[in-house]
Amino acid sequence: MDVYAIVECKQAHCGNTTAILLGVLQGIKGDLVGSSKDDSFVDFVCPQCGFGSRRPIPSFRQEEPLTPPPNPIRYPRDLFHESLKCEKVGCTAHARVHTPGETSTSGTTPKIAASKWHGMTGITCSQGHPLKLHPEVL
Ligand SMILES: [Zn+2]
Ligand SMILES: [Zn+2]
Repeated sequence: MDVYAIVECKQAHCGNTTAILLGVLQGIKGDLVGSSKDDSFVDFVCPQCGFGSRRPIPSFRQEEPLTPPPNPIRYPRDLFHESLKCEKVGCTAHARVHTPGETSTSGTTPKIAASKWHGMTGITCSQGHPLKLHPEVL
């Protein structure tokens, strides 16, 4: 049976859930320079409202559904990945955020346009600098 991690959007009034196959989730987990392996996380943008946040992987509910959930993320290509440059002067690191893609092809576009992304709560570059991404300054 396939085990999915259920990623619930933390934004009030959204409540969207995205089911990501556990193996795919393991492939996109982030790590900070010098951090231990125990605090793995994923920087995820909700495909419905565009709310981005850093989420600890152990916080996700895991399910083994009898039938596949709607719009599941089953393959790495189902996801769109974006590298966001750190804005701290002198830092060349990037943050990697992930969100479901429009199609399962290479060169896909995000289901929700990057200009609608907001929040980015807790997301940092790989050196740990907080990301300052707000749609109004894009
Ligand atoms: Zn949402
Ligand atoms: Zn940085």
